[in-house]
Amino acid sequence: MVSIRFGSIGGRAVFITNSLTKFLDVERASGGSLPSDPMQCLSRWAEVCKVASKLTEHDESSGVALDMSKLDCPVPRPRQIFAIGINYKAHAAEMKNALPKEPLVFTKFQSSLNSPNGAIKLVGEKCDYEAELVAVMAKGGRDIAIADAWSHVAGLCVGQDVSDRALQYANTPPQFSLGKSRAGFTPIGPWITDAASLASRGNLEMTCRVSGEIMQHTQTDDMIFEIPDIISYLSSICELFAGDVIYTGTPSGVGAGRTPPRFLRAGDVIETTIQDLGTLVNTCI
Ligand code: ZN
Repeated sequence: MVSIRFGSIGGRAVFITNSLTKFLDVERASGGSLPSDPMQCLSRWAEVCKVASKLTEHDESSGVALDMSKLDCPVPRPRQIFAIGINYKAHAAEMKNALPKEPLVFTKFQSSLNSPNGAIKLVGEKCDYEAELVAVMAKGGRDIAIADAWSHVAGLCVGQDVSDRALQYANTPPQFSLGKSRAGFTPIGPWITDAASLASRGNLEMTCRVSGEIMQHTQTDDMIFEIPDIISYLSSICELFAGDVIYTGTPSGVGAGRTPPRFLRAGDVIETTIQDLGTLVNTCI
């Protein structure tokens, strides 16, 4: 395989083939040496990569046809989900925030995770979209140096940080975690692409369309704190664990930052795409 694409179908870890049209069961592809549970696989990422690297074209052609609607969240039970607010310069300006001096960290709770093509049940009139690049950890630790940080990352995937702005801004100062943790507000996927294979992992094109209209479009090198900076900062305070998820912030163009605001409506389809990582398609209900 050129890139390792690691996903979950029916609760079992799978490899997505290079053609993106088939999948292989990880436990079976490893001859039983790797577990079927995606979380256990993430904690044994080096072995996962070794098995994937040995797959032949014959193995790939024997895969099962991929139905995107069957993909589950590739990280079903992360011990921690971190998210960074105001991490793109243009987004800081539209939300009328000063540039942060340290990463502005909140959490999205595990019970809000959603599949890559899952529906999003809107609550109230002010739900918003936020396209984000997401890093998934393979190796945890404390006090991880910036220079070592990439070696702790399993891979990258696409995320939506769906946000209930009414709840987020109900008080002064605002609070982030609950407004971003309603049921289904945390879709990630469609699979994890191994970070080591991504030549341009520090500068990927990211686009968010809502019902066909481009609302967000950026290169991820507009980030204020890059992934190694974030990992080093977080691990200087909290121990990180295999399978932890890090949302790295959204670029400009969110609905709340528009004039007039453009909040999500039932029937809207949110398509979130990152170069080399794939697309999430989430319908609002
Ligand atoms: Zn966000």
